Order: sequence, then structure tokens, then C-alpha cells
Amino acid sequence: MFYFGKKKQLLDISATIVQRFEDGVVAVDNHHCIILFNAGAERIFGYKAEEVLGRHLNILLPERFHLQHDVMIAEFAATQEYAKKMAERSRELFGCRKGGEEFEANIFIIKTGSGPEAGFAAVVRDISEDKKTEDELVRLATTDPLTGAYNRREFKSLADGESVRANRYNRPLSIMMLDLDHFKRLNDTYGHAAGDKALQKFTTLCCNALRTIDVFGRWGGEEFVTLLPETDTEGAVVIAERLRKLVSQSTLDFNEQKINITVSIGIAQYRAGEMTVETPLSRADSAVYDAKKAGRNRISVYRND
Ligand code: GH3
Ligand code: MG
Ligand code: MG
Repeated sequence: MFYFGKKKQLLDISATIVQRFEDGVVAVDNHHCIILFNAGAERIFGYKAEEVLGRHLNILLPERFHLQHDVMIAEFAATQEYAKKMAERSRELFGCRKGGEEFEANIFIIKTGSGPEAGFAAVVRDISEDKKTEDELVRLATTDPLTGAYNRREFKSLADGESVRANRYNRPLSIMMLDLDHFKRLNDTYGHAAGDKALQKFTTLCCNALRTIDVFGRWGGEEFVTLLPETDTEGAVVIAERLRKLVSQSTLDFNEQKINITVSIGIAQYRAGEMTVETPLSRADSAVYDAKKAGRNRISVYRND
């Protein structure tokens, strides 16, 4: 380091920077006992310095990371590097606050000596608020604001991923188009707000009834789509029939009125080589048309002519 002036003055300045630094600065000795804990660390971890000085570093880490943390430190100690950003492949790092609450953190570690006596210092940045904002942005970009179902773009992207997988491993993949019956009439009779509530209720019913591997999205208006991985036509029929029945048996309470909704469902299976959602979905759409023609509140499977 280059500095101008007396060494003592430099040490004072360094100590002031460390103490006033916005991020947490924690230093440990070669036994991993805490020997320095700045104001930023007090704020982030919720401990006063005197509560942690002399204690093992592990109190600042969630228990499940203790072992892995020791390994990371040992690996770092064996390198020629003086400082590095800690990273566990693509996984996030977590710290543990005084009350036991975990938070995501960026951690930068620095060797503060050499040889077996070497200690370490860590600069800890609490990124939990940034993460919350990031998660919220992802949610806004991928879901439909009225129902919370995946929006069309996200559904397409998830469906494309599944179709690649299904083709590679030669697994069955089905898709359903779900179109609410006489929805214009429902809006005209009970009002648009009732229609909105019906769309929300329908989404909740479907999401609760589907498997976690299924992908449910709002295609637009009163039309929804569901991707059914690992499912052939026969399996899709069972799922579609379960949904159809569930919807027709439930009622929507709106302004002291009980509203019944029904849905028509078209089913199609992906064919070998189909990598995008458009073609299978157009077959499912044509099956919906058949279900409507046959009287609504029913399911229909696309059949080869
Ligand atoms: P069908 O049984 O043949 O499907 O008849 P339908 O009335 O459901 O079909 P149509 O396509 O004629 O009408 C769809 C209606 O869905 C028209 C539109 O006003 C309504 N709709 C679309 N999006 C929304 C929405 O976000 N909220 C509400 N309340 N209504 C919506
Ligand atoms: Mg429609
Ligand atoms: Mg409709």
C-alpha cells in the first residue's frame, strides 16, 4: 500500500474506515474466534461487539453451513490469493442474525496474515432487501397481475424447456387449453368485477388441483393453458376431467349471489420433434372448439384425422 505520512497516522485512518464502513467487517484469529466486529457488523447481525468478541465465527452462520464454511476457508487458505469473493458455485451465501433469522449476503474474505497463524477478515454485505426487490421484479415480469398465473411469455418459455426435455428423453408431454364457458354472459349478467373474481377463483382451483410439475398459465382473456409433463393423452384426460368437475361443482360467492362457472378443455399431445408450443396448442384449441360445439362443460381430445 502507498501512503503519505506517519505509519501511526495510517493505522488510525484505517481503523476509522473499518469502524465506520457501511458493510460489516468481521476479523477472526487462526482459531476462527472473532477479534474484530465493526459497527456495520453490529447493525447487520444484531449483536453488540462485546457479545461476539472471543466467540467462534460459527455463531454468525446458519448451522447447515458450518461444515461447508470450514471447507471454503481451508481451500482459500491453501491458495496464493490474498482476497476473494466467497461463492458456493451459483448458490447464495447466508448469514445468521442474533435472533436466528437468516439473510442473504455477499461476502468478501481477506487473509490477514500468512502461514498457520493467519487469520481472516470478512466484509459482509446484507443483500436481502436487493433480493426481495429482484424477486418482486421477476414475479411482475412472469405472472399475470389479475390471477397470479404465469403470463403467456413465461408459459411459452417454460413450455419450450419442457418440450426440449421431452424430446431428448422421449417422454410424453401433453397440453390443455381451458376456455371458460359463456364468460361474456357472466360479465354481462353480474358485471366485470364478478368476471375478474371468477378468473381468480378458477386459477386457485386449478393450481390447487394440479401437480407441482404441471405448468399453469393465462393465455389471455378467459383462456388458460396447462402443460402436463410426463403425461400421455390418457393421463391428461384424467386430469382434465378432474378439473372440469371441480370447477362445475364449485360456486363463486359474489355480492350475496352464487355464481356457477364451467370450463371447456381441449387436450393435445406433443408429437416427436415439436419444440414450440404453438402447434400442439393449436390442436388443443381445435379440441376446445369441439367441446364447445358438443355443449360446453366438457373435455375433448384432439384426434388425428
Ligand atoms: P364461449 O363459451 O364460447 O367460450 O363463450 P365466451 O363468452 O366465454 O367467449 P367469448 O370469447 O365470446 O368471450 C370472452 C369474454 O371474456 C369476453 C371478455 O369480455 C371476457 N374477458 C376477457 N378477459 C377478461 C378479464 O380480464 N376480466 C373479465 N371480467 N372478463 C374478461
Ligand atoms: Mg375464449
Ligand atoms: Mg369462453
